[in-house]
Amino acid sequence: MPRVLDPQLKRALAERIRYYRELGIYDFYTRETAAPSGVADQSLLEASSISEQRAQMTPRAKALSPVSSEPKVVESAPPRPESAVSDPVQALKIIREDLGDCTRCVLHKQGRKQIVFGVGNPNADLMFVGEAPGADEDLQGEPFVGRAGQLLNNMIKAMGLQREQVYIANIIKCRPPGNRTPERQECETCSPFLMRQIEVVKPKAIVALGAVAAKTLLAINSSMAELRGRWYDFRGTKLAVTYHPAFLLRDPRQKKETWKDLQMVMKYLELPIPAKAAE
Ligand code: URA
Repeated sequence: MPRVLDPQLKRALAERIRYYRELGIYDFYTRETAAPSGVADQSLLEASSISEQRAQMTPRAKALSPVSSEPKVVESAPPRPESAVSDPVQALKIIREDLGDCTRCVLHKQGRKQIVFGVGNPNADLMFVGEAPGADEDLQGEPFVGRAGQLLNNMIKAMGLQREQVYIANIIKCRPPGNRTPERQECETCSPFLMRQIEVVKPKAIVALGAVAAKTLLAINSSMAELRGRWYDFRGTKLAVTYHPAFLLRDPRQKKETWKDLQMVMKYLELPIPAKAAE
């Protein structure tokens, strides 16, 4: 017989589900057997591994609960609203509307002027992902429009493309005060919206600019020197890592390495490789 949940617990669970959905987490997992006594219903929402759940059980509960190698999906939320829309312009609009006047992390009260959503061709083959808006981007509401943006434009030109042909976005959409590095929590809160943008644009290749973008997208904690120079699989899309243009402004010697990374991307996209490197 189904258990009747305490209304307070029910409200807490509903709140938790809403929170996870805002993060882009739509599926929840449980063991195949009913929860033995002593294991709270809340654990069903934790998406934790079976081994973690078993570790929390009493010895008797463990004995009653068979080890299952694969969790079973018990609930699938309705598809994301934009997935019902075939026009990527409309789909991106839906994501932007979902963001609203976002107050999900502390950055909304730390001096941001506006949300910097993303810009470019909604059908782009190539997508660049940076870290966070800076002062110029915060003023203009568009990613990569300051000095780092000028260099990114040169990199794009060197690839034989125009800025309007690619899609450009950041891991987080609000300027951190003083251009500090985004906190992990801010990246985790904001990046689900970027994931949805990627799903809509469906680029053939993504270039992660700098360590924050690379580490957030790939969930790898390595140095830039280790991360760059090879392909990764990002949810079925090819992803390359290269130096952030702001870093290149400080250390122009690394432009040579960056150009190698971009040529790898050009080869994959079957773009002709011009002889001259990005200045
Ligand atoms: N640096 C970034 O990472 N993103 C921008 O939009 C501008 C500078």
